[in-house]
Amino acid sequence: MTTGTASDNMTAPNTSNPFSLHGKVALVTGASTGLGQGIAIALAQAGADVVGVARSSTADAERGVTAAGRKFHALHSDLERRNEPANVVAQALKAAGRVDILVNNAGIIRRDDALTFSEEDWDAALNLNLKVPFFLAQAVAKQLVQAGRGGKIINIASMLSFQGGIRTASYTASKSGLAGITRLLANEWATRGINVNAIAPGYFETNNTAALRTDEQRNRDILGRIPAGRWGKPSDLGGAAVFLASAASDYVHGTIVPVDGGWLAR
Ligand code: NAP
Repeated sequence: MTTGTASDNMTAPNTSNPFSLHGKVALVTGASTGLGQGIAIALAQAGADVVGVARSSTADAERGVTAAGRKFHALHSDLERRNEPANVVAQALKAAGRVDILVNNAGIIRRDDALTFSEEDWDAALNLNLKVPFFLAQAVAKQLVQAGRGGKIINIASMLSFQGGIRTASYTASKSGLAGITRLLANEWATRGINVNAIAPGYFETNNTAALRTDEQRNRDILGRIPAGRWGKPSDLGGAAVFLASAASDYVHGTIVPVDGGWLAR
């Protein structure tokens, strides 16, 4: 695990704006690409400094965060390693001094028929998509409770937190489990001023969905059921992320907010 920092170019805080994240530090997992990168940049645009976690380069997120005038700390880590969640939170605290917001975004999907689905593909998604977010949340909440402060935890769920999906056994299990854990943690920590909520993205243009978009039939079927008539872009998640990370959502606990172009309404 290595850390690095980028330049500090502070913008004036707007304390009267309930959506302002000035003075806050957000730890965002899976910040190298896709939704995590989009969320990191949106939180920075609202005023937060960002600690971005991934195995590969987070240079693009760093560019977006520093362009918004905020600090970016790169933290290179393989979250699948044992005890890594606690290590990552300790490193983030060392680099940024505090963590107010955790975005549990890093995730993987494994696709195969249920008849042949392997134990390895089961364990991989359950580990990164469910166990890791729980232990990251635990490590972040421990330091918040110790410091006597509240905070915000945002889990990135999925349409498969509500629906069954197909050929995604471990992903469906992990994202359905993540919805349950979101509610459990909200129940346990709401009185401590820690808001735990989730965002359920619909179908977004990222590496995670490349296989669906290159399959002409699946692409057509998916687009045909999205009322908005298009795939989501990572920047489409920014508003929900800023809301759930900010004081504007202080009385919001245990919800799963769909950002899906209307998919669930269909
Ligand atoms: P993506 O483009 O595949 O990005 C996944 C991110 O997770 C990358 O930054 C990756 O970074 C990181 N990651 C993967 N394994 C990791 C590990 N072992 N340790 C640390 N970081 C790791 O996926 P995405 O579409 O942006 O998805 C982000 C989240 O949204 C996931 O939880 C996904 O399930 C969820 N989601 C996505 C969609 C969608 O339509 N795209 C829909 C619903 C939910 P490195 O490879 O650099 O480590």
